[in-house]
Amino acid sequence: MTDRTPVIAGNWKMNTDVESGTKLAEEILALSASASGVEKIVCPPFISLTSISQVLAGSSVRVGAQNVSANGNGAFTGEVSTSMLNGLVSHAIVGHSERRAMNGETSADVASKAIAAVDAGLVAILCVGEDLGVRKTGEAAAFVSAQLEESLAGFSQWDSLIIAYEPVWAIGTGEAATSDQAQEMTAVCRDVVRKLAPDAADSVRVLYGGSVNSGNISELLTQPDIDGALVGGASLKADEFSKLIAAASSN
Ligand code: PEP
Repeated sequence: MTDRTPVIAGNWKMNTDVESGTKLAEEILALSASASGVEKIVCPPFISLTSISQVLAGSSVRVGAQNVSANGNGAFTGEVSTSMLNGLVSHAIVGHSERRAMNGETSADVASKAIAAVDAGLVAILCVGEDLGVRKTGEAAAFVSAQLEESLAGFSQWDSLIIAYEPVWAIGTGEAATSDQAQEMTAVCRDVVRKLAPDAADSVRVLYGGSVNSGNISELLTQPDIDGALVGGASLKADEFSKLIAAASSN
């Protein structure tokens, strides 16, 4: 066991509108506000951040963005800068595999976003993970290690970093990594931090993400290098998400 506080973070992706998202946040708050010893984060779509940050203000549930621009305000149509997020969020996901795959984000882009986020006082939740093709070659550890190192180029604010290991083949498929697979790869992520910033390696939180639900969370959390979960589908149901929080809580 470590003394790292576990994290349960929900990535709502492109789901919910302002009304339904606000209701979901209210339900999560009602079910999970009192869970202690766990950091709870919801990452709604940008359009709901104003409303949801008001609902959750002063509570134990934090709000994160699903993405952020590496650029300051200016001519970047459709983008959202860190200063626009000021006062709305405490965390920002960077490098989610869907953005890497569908929006062409490179690890160099992700590194710029992570630095922009922490420079603005946010905690970066930095995602890495191999796809099925890479896993089948047996090179997952080498791939994720290189991807994470590239995504952390120039990064130095280690207290403001959470890493999420999310194998692409497990995201949204219902086929989670086994706890042994997830342990192996979260340890790989921690080793990258140990190489780049030895003093930070034992305190940085490394999450697992990919088809986490109330049936598999407890076993995942028994693993020494898994400090919580980044959750997609199961974060859209308040009762299920609250079960994940309860499983990570020390209550
Ligand atoms: C995710 O997209 O970060 C994720 C882990 O999704 P799911 O839990 O639905 O697999």
